[in-house]
Amino acid sequence: MSSEKSKVYFGSVQHGKVAQIACFSAKVDKITEMLIEQTPIAKKDKVAIKMHLGFNEGYQTIPVFFVRRLVEAVKKAGGYPFITDNPTAVYNAYKRGYTQETCGCPIIPIAGVKDGYTTSVKINFKGIKTLDLGGALKDADVLIDLTHAKGHGACGYGGAIKNLALGGYSGMSRWMKIHGVAQVDKYWDKEKGTPEHAKKLVDACPYGSLRYDEAQGNLIRNYHDCHQCFTCLEVDQGVGALKVPRESYSAFQEMMAIASSKVLETFKPEKVFYLTFLLQITTFCDCLGMGQPPVVNDIGVLGSKDIVAIETATLDLIKKEGLIEKAIPPFLKHVNLNADEDLHPFTRLHGPYKDPYEAVNFIEKLGLGTSHYELIEILSPEETAKMETAEKQFEGEPSFF
Ligand code: SF4
Repeated sequence: MSSEKSKVYFGSVQHGKVAQIACFSAKVDKITEMLIEQTPIAKKDKVAIKMHLGFNEGYQTIPVFFVRRLVEAVKKAGGYPFITDNPTAVYNAYKRGYTQETCGCPIIPIAGVKDGYTTSVKINFKGIKTLDLGGALKDADVLIDLTHAKGHGACGYGGAIKNLALGGYSGMSRWMKIHGVAQVDKYWDKEKGTPEHAKKLVDACPYGSLRYDEAQGNLIRNYHDCHQCFTCLEVDQGVGALKVPRESYSAFQEMMAIASSKVLETFKPEKVFYLTFLLQITTFCDCLGMGQPPVVNDIGVLGSKDIVAIETATLDLIKKEGLIEKAIPPFLKHVNLNADEDLHPFTRLHGPYKDPYEAVNFIEKLGLGTSHYELIEILSPEETAKMETAEKQFEGEPSFF
């Protein structure tokens, strides 16, 4: 682990005065400018902006307002930007306001129109040998990991690592291998568990995360929906057919670290930067395609050249901010609000085996950065409060510009 600290730039949503220079977009622009200055973008470099464009009824992804400004900044630096995400999100992105016209650049499916334009990368983790990396990433010269920070059912937190790890691959790799890794360690003993017992367990799970496959005689857990309430273990007492293996929850976190490290290996480290928006921080991720109440107040934006540092800073700021308790979805019956326990808000929501720092620790061990960071606030409310600013301008007459 390096003893040197990585810089993480922070722009707060809070402002020091009523002036454009003090507002949030000014901070986003300044941080973008600083990161572009530190990133050698050659003329005509193809710049992949990897973001999640959301699904269906979801409206809490990164506002197109900021995406457009980032695209313009990349163009100004001489790059040819394009936005990329999984094919379905790309094809229906227009429903959520993301189009070539609004964003200012093409929006390209990460693995081609039929999700088959990929390149195989070797991993060898838990018996899984390869993953199919999206060809659009392979083709790019520069990568901007543009992330919306929020909770996630499978691992507690969806951030910069998950944006690359899940979004950077074909659907088959994403679902069967990356999510599928949680199923590798066996947790159901067919010999001990009769179909009747399995059905009792299915009925007992308060989150509907167990199902029984009669044909295979197999009990299957949906790890995304499991809140580790351990009701199933209580019902299984005396039979011993079922496990809730801690290592299966960790396996997904480690797989995400591996998958995102493989994306990053296709770029020169200096040709990558990270921008994370800590706005509309919801319990579940944008893949669910629905609006949700934010469970943490809006915090701001972070930018860095170091994925480990920005992820650690994001999680630390969310932890410091804490949960808006009245916004917690009422169907989550096992949220741990015990203030005496030092838990991250996403662990409180999603259960004790879903520690959001875990993937970050794994990727740090892979040598992709450091969790030691220096948080540098840009245009802080204190700083902008003292700034001389232009007189406020209001509309005197209708203007088309
Ligand atoms: S631990 Fe709780 S949520 Fe998870 S499968 Fe068992 S009963 Fe369901």
